[in-house]
Amino acid sequence: MKKEKHNIKKKDISKSDKKHKVLVIASEIKNAKSIGKILSEGGYIVETTSKPMEVVNILKSADFEVALLDVEFLNSKDFLLIEVVKKIQPKLEVIIMTPQSVVNTAIEFLKKGAIEYVVKPFGANELLASVEKVLQIIELKVQLISLKDLDKSKDEFISTVSHELKTPLTAISGSIEVIFERERAENEKRNEQRRQIDKDMHKLFAIIGRQTKKMKELVANLLDFVKIEAGFMQLKKTKLQMINIVKEVIQEIKPLIDAKKIEITSNIDSDYVNCNGESIKIVILNLITNSIKYTKENGKINVSFTKQCNRFKFVVEDNGIGIEKQNLDRIFDKFYRIDRSLVREAGGFGIGLAICKKIIELHNGKIWAKSSGLGKGSKFIFTLQL
Ligand code: ADP
Repeated sequence: MKKEKHNIKKKDISKSDKKHKVLVIASEIKNAKSIGKILSEGGYIVETTSKPMEVVNILKSADFEVALLDVEFLNSKDFLLIEVVKKIQPKLEVIIMTPQSVVNTAIEFLKKGAIEYVVKPFGANELLASVEKVLQIIELKVQLISLKDLDKSKDEFISTVSHELKTPLTAISGSIEVIFERERAENEKRNEQRRQIDKDMHKLFAIIGRQTKKMKELVANLLDFVKIEAGFMQLKKTKLQMINIVKEVIQEIKPLIDAKKIEITSNIDSDYVNCNGESIKIVILNLITNSIKYTKENGKINVSFTKQCNRFKFVVEDNGIGIEKQNLDRIFDKFYRIDRSLVREAGGFGIGLAICKKIIELHNGKIWAKSSGLGKGSKFIFTLQL
């Protein structure tokens, strides 16, 4: 052991209650004990041995994170020992203790599965730093394994959620539409009393239909968010005309527009844009749906898409409830919703604008909001490169 004055740095075990276990295998029990002393003072649980016959039994009796193995303990290049140790405790990491003169042997041990070596004589802090470093590597390995598992299950999770949520909703809303249409046709042939009953039923069906649609939109929104967060959003770009995307979106949300008697006007440049149609449609759908959600009945929305000197500019403008200045940036944060108990019907997860921001940024564009304040309408603008 190197003679040096030192204050042994106690390992910070406050973060986890777990004390790590270290096995010291040295050629002489005196050395094993003095190394063990340093480690226990450093906050580890230590077992020591200098007897080859004991090693296997100790390893079978308890789990250790780290073993310190003295090269001199082996007498010869007994590389097999590492294999034996690893076989009994595959997660245990071995640090070789070696004098400078046989450092090459230690390097051979690295090839056989040891993780690190320390050159004798070493000081207490050097030893503790080495054990600490190995424990950090163990921790990283555990994290890496769980990240890999997570990655594998992400794909499965997305398709399961998508299937489990979308399929029943599609079946329910499809069936309701069919029932609704049949009832309407049958109604013509029925007497007055029966018609009243049917009228009430229609109202209920309409509620179920509206709520199911709303739930479908929320689920679609949630799935887009999960896809983006998991890095699964494919952004293959093609040349397309924005007018087609806007038309599709308006067609999809026509019932929403009609229900609130919103007047939508548009001014769309016919130029071709290089972008990912599927994701840009999500952005436009979110922006226009928000404008409808946050605008009173008979409100007005204008959608425009124009080419400016070096970029395309898309603007959705409404004359709705507006946004306070201090919220203009925050509304693009994940899960941020302005608390407005007045707008009760406008349900959502507060993720729509976060999705839009991510998609536009993935296109190297910019997105922002403008409003002159509460009650003064809002403008959402995004730009795309030419
Ligand atoms: P959600 O609509 O689900 O709450 P978003 O991320 O789409 O989530 O929007 C975040 C918040 O931004 C909304 O809760 C709302 O307060 C505000 N907001 C979005 N669009 C508008 C708009 N056109 N007019 C006024 N407020 C809006």
